[in-house]
Amino acid sequence: MSTQRIQTTILIIGAGPTGLAAAISLVKQGVRDLLIVEETVRIAEASRAMTIHAATLEALDSIGCADALVELGIKGSGMQLSDRTAPFMGAEFASLASYTRFPYVLLIPQSSTEKVLEAQLNALNVEVLRAEKAVGLQLNDDGALDVALESGKVITAQYVIGADGARSAVSVILHMGHMKSTSTHLHFEIRQLAGVGFADPDGMPVDERLAQMILADVWFSYSHPNLPTDKVHATASGGRFFLTIPLPKSPESERVYRIGFNVPADAGPPPSNPHVSYLQHHLDEQGPLYLSSDATVNPNPIHISNVVWSARFRTHAAIADQFLVRMGSQAVSGRQTRGLVLLIGDAAHIHSPAGGLGMNLGIRDAVTLGPVLATHAASDHDSLPKNDQLLEDHVRTRKDRALSTIRLTKRIMSIANVLGSASLLGITYWLFRVVGSIPLVRRQVAWNLSGLGNR
Ligand SMILES: Cc1cc2nc3c(=O)[nH]c(=O)nc-3n(C[C@H](O)[C@H](O)[C@H](O)COP(=O)(O)OP(=O)(O)OC[C@H]3O[C@@H](n4cnc5c(N)ncnc54)[C@H](O)[C@@H]3O)c2cc1C
Repeated sequence: MSTQRIQTTILIIGAGPTGLAAAISLVKQGVRDLLIVEETVRIAEASRAMTIHAATLEALDSIGCADALVELGIKGSGMQLSDRTAPFMGAEFASLASYTRFPYVLLIPQSSTEKVLEAQLNALNVEVLRAEKAVGLQLNDDGALDVALESGKVITAQYVIGADGARSAVSVILHMGHMKSTSTHLHFEIRQLAGVGFADPDGMPVDERLAQMILADVWFSYSHPNLPTDKVHATASGGRFFLTIPLPKSPESERVYRIGFNVPADAGPPPSNPHVSYLQHHLDEQGPLYLSSDATVNPNPIHISNVVWSARFRTHAAIADQFLVRMGSQAVSGRQTRGLVLLIGDAAHIHSPAGGLGMNLGIRDAVTLGPVLATHAASDHDSLPKNDQLLEDHVRTRKDRALSTIRLTKRIMSIANVLGSASLLGITYWLFRVVGSIPLVRRQVAWNLSGLGNR
């Protein structure tokens, strides 16, 4: 049987939020010769990211996607970090009003974000090619890239964008130096074990206290007045944290809450889909006391009454050592017009979910890549050197942005750890509490999280 061969200028692998945003951004720049492949059949409901910050909304606005998202989400006024009984510090997003038309953090499940982006892409007459998994990448004799799909098809592209997430097969293939792979089981762990260019930028080992995480969407037995309706609540105590985030409410049902917490390694591996009793146990151990089901610590015990879905994740920080890989030969004036691979989103960088920044960084990688790559792809002999330099500069900037974001998440986690472990009688606890109540500090925290200074 002959192999089906398809030609395109730009191939995007992965239709998560960053792949979709990159496709929209490129089409808005006039690129029509583009394909996007995605291994899953449909968008997963068990979604991870819940927060879209101001700088990302601005980026999404520039490709015509912000308003539809804002309509579906909750305009979150703040993020609050507390111990199990009282708040320490927080971010107040209204303070951003003089810098952006989005002075809030939008609370919206990642699945809704992806649905809006895919609908927007479809409206531009581009369909995601679903149930198509990329399994191989090879430079062909013409200097272009052949991407093998599990279905047996081969797509030949001048540019490949690896937007295939934390377990990036594209990135694994590149960093292992394998120009060709037919494996369908390339996992992030292989890259890690092989030590191939995707590591913590500060050489830190994985922090096993924070690496295992549970996320779940749940209903509570009653609507406690302390439950947030437009804020993210994070509780830190004894090296453990617990998140409570309201989901957009439908008129016909009670509000669903996203909860998330870490499971330290010494507590053993969590089940893959934790059930009510596992979630309740951890909520009682590390959540805010007002949500406890234990009548000895909470006069009005409250229970998780239902679980919509739940899942476990592993998180840690890592960054690819190259975001742009030139697989082809130097074509014009020492520059290349094809055989280029770009990594964006989780394929290029991952970190802890502290501050809800990961998807935000990836979407901004994607939206900002559009104009630069469209210009590069349209280069002629004379304009290529300049446009190639623009692409190099862009990639360097994105790497700097990723490094600052990774380091911000590390600072957030270390503050949460210090606060969570500080004695109520100790000076650190009270110092942080006083500092955290200063409006200027709360505004600065909002600014750092918004991404407006790190677009
Ligand atoms: C527990 C947890 C909580 C988080 N919370 C937040 C938050 O609140 N805010 C935030 O901003 N971020 C958060 N994140 C991070 C966020 O989920 C990611 O940064 C985001 O999903 C990255 O998007 P992406 O498109 O780069 O990758 P992904 O979302 O992983 O998408 C990659 C896509 O590529 C497809 N794919 C993979 N391999 C192939 C292949 N070989 N061929 C074809 N298709 C392929 C996958 O099926 C997938 O659809 C969280 C992450 C975790 C783990």
